[in-house]
Amino acid sequence: MDETCQHLTYREEGDGKSFETARAFCAVTESFVQPMRADVCNARYDLDPATDCEFYFDPDAETTDGTDADGDR
Ligand code: SF4
Repeated sequence: MDETCQHLTYREEGDGKSFETARAFCAVTESFVQPMRADVCNARYDLDPATDCEFYFDPDAETTDGTDADGDR
């Protein structure tokens, strides 16, 4: 993956504060992304959110192992 993390959003307020410019916010940790982490979130410098971030998870992963695919058995 060389794309921005799908859990990355931008918010202009949070943690009881508001900002003039939207800041990077992680939907997994429910916290603003620190500047060092933002490079991973944005997949800069060949970083990959899926492998380089310990918070990342793949929301599609559960449906690809077959356990939830057939519910009528
Ligand atoms: S890379 Fe990690 S910290 Fe950044 S938005 Fe994705 S899950 Fe959150």
